[in-house]
Amino acid sequence: MIRVAKSPNVPQSLTTTKAYDGEDVHQQLECDQHKKCYLCERRLITDFEVEHFKSQDNNSDLRQNWNNLFWSCTYCNPKKGKRFDDILNPTKVNIEDEIIQTIDFGERKACFEPISIKETEEHRNTCKFLLNIHNGTGRLRTKREENFFKYMVGKMNNFYSLINQYLDNPTDYNCNLVKEKLQIDKEFLGFKYWIIKSDTQLVKVFANDIIWNKK
Ligand SMILES: [Zn+2]
Repeated sequence: MIRVAKSPNVPQSLTTTKAYDGEDVHQQLECDQHKKCYLCERRLITDFEVEHFKSQDNNSDLRQNWNNLFWSCTYCNPKKGKRFDDILNPTKVNIEDEIIQTIDFGERKACFEPISIKETEEHRNTCKFLLNIHNGTGRLRTKREENFFKYMVGKMNNFYSLINQYLDNPTDYNCNLVKEKLQIDKEFLGFKYWIIKSDTQLVKVFANDIIWNKK
């Protein structure tokens, strides 16, 4: 999960109709979020919904509030539901800087931790939610949770092989292959940024490629 920069222009249907998910809302969110779910950072093709950052159940006054609307996938939306109303707001916080996002391939799990100096209840809730979508809610992942995890691991293995290829042979070509995977419309940037930040050699080369959305 990373910071999201939203357009300040409120889609017209929010003020002229009673709907929160008009076509113009979808289009603006799709554009602002680069066709990705703001929670899991997967690219969306068909299974997307307009999600209420503060749930409709607990905040009916924010039902049509543009600042409260995001694009999310149908996997993440119900998992968030009304249980995670108090997570870090990605339009206000550089989540990629404040939540350490890594993968433990041996243990087959994703790990999320607040950086210690910034730990608040919202940071802890954000980690809890992200652990939930990546690692599942029960002792074993459900089929859907396992499919999500395998998809994420596949993408990250691919990124690691490009990183290793670059470290073994730091040509412009190999450098550009990594940069391409760090573009804002690419998936799982939260994890990718931490891979770069954790290595002094990589951070020197790719520092400018991990500052997206900080407006
Ligand atoms: Zn999602």
